[in-house]
Amino acid sequence: MKNITKFFTTLPATPIVYLTTINHKRLYLKQDYLNHPVIQGNKLRKLKYNLLAAKQAQQPLISFGGAYSNHIAALAAAGQVFGLATVGIIRGEELAASSRWNQTLRSAHQQGMQLHFVSRKAYRQKQAHPEIQSIIQQYAQALLIPEGGSNSLSVLGSREIMTEIAANPIPFAAVFAAGGTGGTLAGLIDGVAKENLFCRVVGVSVLKGAEDLPLLIRRLSQAHQQVNWQLHSDYHFGGYAKTNAELAAFQRQFEQRFNLPLESIYTAKLSYAVFDLAAKSSPDTAENWLIYHSGGLQGRAVKIGNEA
Ligand SMILES: *Cc1c(COP(=O)(O)O)cnc(C)c1O
Repeated sequence: MKNITKFFTTLPATPIVYLTTINHKRLYLKQDYLNHPVIQGNKLRKLKYNLLAAKQAQQPLISFGGAYSNHIAALAAAGQVFGLATVGIIRGEELAASSRWNQTLRSAHQQGMQLHFVSRKAYRQKQAHPEIQSIIQQYAQALLIPEGGSNSLSVLGSREIMTEIAANPIPFAAVFAAGGTGGTLAGLIDGVAKENLFCRVVGVSVLKGAEDLPLLIRRLSQAHQQVNWQLHSDYHFGGYAKTNAELAAFQRQFEQRFNLPLESIYTAKLSYAVFDLAAKSSPDTAENWLIYHSGGLQGRAVKIGNEA
């Protein structure tokens, strides 16, 4: 088991690499997937202060997710690495039979996460549903993390992404990140304010009809009124986890050209959006743009730098 405080204080900043220039937009990418093989990218950022709090109080951690949730995968791995009890409340009672588990659920179970499978109806209502209340009551004084891991502690952790970006020598006019539940974008926005940067935060929603996302970001972020930020909601390619031939071709070409891995749910859509926005931008403005690669590559055979 790792010493959790030491793990976080010795974690190196992840690299920023140059990609290409389009219309005088110099595009860079922050390889945050290099921070951990499984507790990866923004999920490690978001879990950091939740894990430290749970460790200090010896609390079990309970959270929610679907069968493919990166957040559940990260939480289960963090529980094992740092010696914390974890509980996953998973959407879909049909998954109670372990023969139907996918890789995410199998490895979460192997890493000691207690899995509970609930109906879609109960899942939608979360703690308001009696079935879920009775699960939570089985674990005394647990720290409850919302679906996707977005709470105020996760915003504090995500804010540190911007602190790392501020410490690099290249001044960025814009930082682009994928948005699901909005915790990461809220953290980036708060980070811009904290570091006094002249930089806008641009979110790309991976969900169709993400009307809630601006609201979630405003609720989570302290500094949303003083920072220049915006959201693009037209790069979802049909909705969450949906894809098409154009996106798949973009991802393939990107990976070959830059020798960098993307995944199709978040970072391929994000990168597609940034390349498209750069192509449509005015060539009269020269700027440095940064793509925040939030990870999601666990289970893919990529070379990871700082093996924990
Ligand atoms: C979960 C996830 C996101 C979305 O982060 P939010 O804070 O929920 O908006 C983005 N990228 C990857 C790779 C993720 O796993």
